[in-house]
Amino acid sequence: MKKSSPPPRALETRLIRAPAPPPAADHSQALHLTSSFAFASAAEAAARFAGDDGGYIYSRFSNPNHDALAARLAALENGESALTTASGMAAIAAIAFGVCRAGSRVVCSAHVFGATLQLFERFLRKFDVEIDFAYSAKIGEWKKLLSRPTALVLLETPSNPTLEVFDLRKISALAKKAGAIFAVDNCFCPFGQNPLDHGADLVIHSATKYLDGQGRTIGGGVVGGRDFLRENLLPFLRSAGPSLSPFNAWVAAAGIETLPLRFRAHCARAQNIARWLEKQKGARRVLHTGLASHPSRELAMQQQGGLGGAIVSFFVDGGKEGAWRFLDALRMMTRTANFGDAKSTATHPATTTHSRVPAEMRARLGISDDLVRLSIGLEAEADIRADLRRGLAAL
Ligand SMILES: *Cc1c(COP(=O)(O)O)cnc(C)c1O
Repeated sequence: MKKSSPPPRALETRLIRAPAPPPAADHSQALHLTSSFAFASAAEAAARFAGDDGGYIYSRFSNPNHDALAARLAALENGESALTTASGMAAIAAIAFGVCRAGSRVVCSAHVFGATLQLFERFLRKFDVEIDFAYSAKIGEWKKLLSRPTALVLLETPSNPTLEVFDLRKISALAKKAGAIFAVDNCFCPFGQNPLDHGADLVIHSATKYLDGQGRTIGGGVVGGRDFLRENLLPFLRSAGPSLSPFNAWVAAAGIETLPLRFRAHCARAQNIARWLEKQKGARRVLHTGLASHPSRELAMQQQGGLGGAIVSFFVDGGKEGAWRFLDALRMMTRTANFGDAKSTATHPATTTHSRVPAEMRARLGISDDLVRLSIGLEAEADIRADLRRGLAAL
């Protein structure tokens, strides 16, 4: 008897199971929008879950787009390995919860991102983690704070929004003596400054900023030693789930390809704008780590690969009203809390990014009501200056 072919599958089945072509040799990495990955056999599934097989399982903690971004983050930081996270804050949360336990002590710079302060104050403290803040970049204060055993040291340099510069080499030596993991948030100078080369153990990135560079997505990552990340941070990410969307990973990974060119261009414009702003009426003190007037310029240039960064902060005449008048008179620069975008942006930190920081702490940090933060984008310098002139004229 002639062997019959199996009966055709029903339409609804064919619509689901029609074979897709095998992976092509994409020049731009393919977007792996899949929640899970298939196993060739039950034994392969078991091997993967046992960790004996490096293959993918589930996109909460492993996906080819995550891996592409992680490889670029590690390359960017001269690091051994990297993990990707849903956001820069998820990277910081993974470090906090991966490193600390009840009774642990954290020494954190008070000059960090507003949400980092919230995470530590409101949540980490709930789990009996002791947190001490360093209010300045002065090494004496860090020496005193790190004279006791400490689990985690975290800082940001240059800091947001007052552009304090912290000496990574000296603080890493103190952190080591205190037995701490030293984590550096590198959002403000993601190219040119490599904290691992100055003794840091972990580097934090928010891909939301310069890595994407066009303000499209939220993402983050941590760079550090392979074993450390695998043993301490990956289990938190796998269990807690602050994972990066493959699409956002894909955007950030592509963004990194042009980061060196873009960041150098951002910095060159910011340097010129800062110098120009110093001569304008209405702008009292101008803060930029590339300015001759910056008290830590020499250290900044050493640590930051000669780049001053692209954030320019300054104090205006007229207090909060003056700052708001300046912002409301802008016609090109975007009034938004984000930075690191091709579009120049302007922010009033005291009433936005740092509004949840208690007023007394804000005062100690120098985030006064007359402070304005600019993120210099990639528009022509003349157009940026013209917009700033409009703002200054309104003071
Ligand atoms: C934006 C930012 C973060 C948080 O990153 P998200 O991607 O917004 O979560 C952390 N640190 C610094 C310095 C930042 O600027």
